[in-house]
Amino acid sequence: AIEIEGLDKWFGGFHVLRGIDFTVKRGERIVICGPSGSGKSTLIRCINRLETFERGRIVVDGIELTDDMRCVDEIRREVGMVFQQFNLFPHLTVLENCTLAPVWVRKLPRREAEAVAMHYLERVRIPEQAGKYPGQLSGGQQQRVAIARALCMNPRIMLFDEPTSALDPEMVKEVLDTMVQLARDGMTMLVVSHEMGFAREVADRVVFMDSGQILEAAPPDAFFGTPQHARTRAFLAQVL
Ligand code: ATP
Ligand code: MG
Repeated sequence: AIEIEGLDKWFGGFHVLRGIDFTVKRGERIVICGPSGSGKSTLIRCINRLETFERGRIVVDGIELTDDMRCVDEIRREVGMVFQQFNLFPHLTVLENCTLAPVWVRKLPRREAEAVAMHYLERVRIPEQAGKYPGQLSGGQQQRVAIARALCMNPRIMLFDEPTSALDPEMVKEVLDTMVQLARDGMTMLVVSHEMGFAREVADRVVFMDSGQILEAAPPDAFFGTPQHARTRAFLAQVL
């Protein structure tokens, strides 16, 4: 579970997150949408301390996120993240990308790390690409490697920041299918995305952020059927 209470963050004089209160229960799937600049990336980056914050609390699976690097490391072990730009290491093969952190951070024996990596590469349906370099793969394949790589650390929570928005349209579906599968397996997921079809299919709740605040959060039927705020309606009119 992720508990966020009274979270405030500033970039210099700019108040980017304004009093965020939100809880993600274990096994819950949340999709966050909202206009560009509303703070979606900043919010999810706070959860694994890629950003610091000035006020409020974040507690992940009972561990409170403080300045203590030990708790930051502990939380990062629980939380996997997938970005818009896949951030794979270009000079390492797919398999090496997937085993690097398990071997160096988790101290897994290489053989074992490779077996785990192949398991997840099979789950994202690209085991045959294991020996290739990221540059030899399509965008959709690279993003599936990024998902497999995150899963190799055996996270309990997965954060996604617009995982399909850098992809050519024909590759979006293969990545979303992988994410739907992950959701069906019961992974706790917090996904920033404007893929409203995905939100309808897997989200337990859809969240709308605007100007650093959560304006509304509701199950997909209510969120899409009877949005409460004019700004949510205006946003949905643009993306649906
Ligand atoms: P998008 O949909 O475009 O990805 P977003 O909702 O993810 O937008 P954020 O990236 O969280 O928005 O940014 C929120 C605001 O904070 C924006 O106005 C952005 O310019 C600003 N911002 C983000 N990162 C920084 C930074 N490192 N320093 C200063 N301002 C920043
Ligand atoms: Mg963003």
